Amino acid sequence: MQVIKTIADFRELRRQLSRSVGLVPTMGYLHEGHLVLVKRARTENSTVVVSIFVNPTQFAPSEDFSTYPRDMGRDLKLLEREKTDIVFAPSCEEMYPSEYSSWVDVERVTERLEGAHRQGHFRGVATVVAKLFNIVQPTRAYFGQKDAQQAVVIKRMVTDLNMNLEIVAVPTVRESDGLAMSSRNIYLNPEERQAAAVLFKALSLAKQLWQDREKDADTIRHQMTSLIRKEPLAQIDYVSIADTETLEELKLIDHPALASLAIKIGKTRLIDNILLE
Ligand code: AMP
Repeated sequence: MQVIKTIADFRELRRQLSRSVGLVPTMGYLHEGHLVLVKRARTENSTVVVSIFVNPTQFAPSEDFSTYPRDMGRDLKLLEREKTDIVFAPSCEEMYPSEYSSWVDVERVTERLEGAHRQGHFRGVATVVAKLFNIVQPTRAYFGQKDAQQAVVIKRMVTDLNMNLEIVAVPTVRESDGLAMSSRNIYLNPEERQAAAVLFKALSLAKQLWQDREKDADTIRHQMTSLIRKEPLAQIDYVSIADTETLEELKLIDHPALASLAIKIGKTRLIDNILLE
């Protein structure tokens, strides 16, 4: 496994790769959710590249960029075990030199859900992912369904800007109580960790109601909301039942829908989702 820190060094290595390249973009502090993406990339490509970069431009000033967990040594061990070929781990200066001025702005699908609550988040995500695609030139890139809106935004960008690669969305990996694995789960104290199970409980309730043929989105949103309100440590940012492609809120669930939510448990903001299809 090679660890590359500069764009110039990556480009030189890239020239020697003639067959398929799978890219898994990450912010590091890896867990099984990331490793499932790497495993999938391993089965589908000759070369597997994992990028580790905590992207400052996708964090608002009030967010946790400086405290976001980092452990490069541990990440490299885990990636070696998954037979990763190349780790691309640039510095902030390498990705955003002082004269940096260009941004990728995906409209509409970024205005809702996470986009409505995290100013500038998707501009930062789309920009860094476009840069990674230009540097790595992957055949395929792997994203988690855990960040469902991110996957929608990236697919939109790839289609709109005619980027020549395939985007693969991989199902969410969960802990035994259903909590979606996330690098941010480390912020939870034991009491909060228990309370965090409420996200998956609310999503499972949505799925159950929908399977029982409830088609009214408001009824499902209300039931999810009252379940979450029973958890004293949970504070709701949003509870949504939306179209899987446009992410517009639905009244009637008569086609595939995405149930998603953002909940603060103490100071930690967690997101999760489930497909109703
Ligand atoms: P991050 O390091 O949080 O930016 O995540 C890197 C990639 O891993 C993103 O495409 C995430 O959607 C994906 N990911 C994170 N957690 C999970 C999970 N629990 N299951 C599946 N994919 C995940």
